[in-house]
Amino acid sequence: MKILKRSNRVYDTSRFGQPQIRLWHRRGKGKKTPCYTLRCGCCDQKLEVYYSEDDLEIGGVNGAIDDWREILLPLLMVQRRYEHFVDVRQRSKVTVKKSLQRRAPRSRSARSSDPSW
Ligand SMILES: [Zn+2]
Repeated sequence: MKILKRSNRVYDTSRFGQPQIRLWHRRGKGKKTPCYTLRCGCCDQKLEVYYSEDDLEIGGVNGAIDDWREILLPLLMVQRRYEHFVDVRQRSKVTVKKSLQRRAPRSRSARSSDPSW
């Protein structure tokens, strides 16, 4: 997994038009799992995210990766399509035509293998 690093300037609106989340990473040691600390771009509010291959603890709430995916991906506007994750916002702007063209020939077989989410 690639570890994300940021400059962590306070109230940096240059990329997203609102203060960018400040981010620190701590490597795991022994029994301690690696951790990201997220801090609000405008104040001192913070959130700790501990992660491993099997589970994820966000703000003290522990859950399986799949559990978190079910909750967070729709909020992040990401959908799962078979083995791929698709940015729903980009899709609606850029690739709508392509998906309409593809739908017709494989509509019968696609339904049975469609994951429930
Ligand atoms: Zn804030």
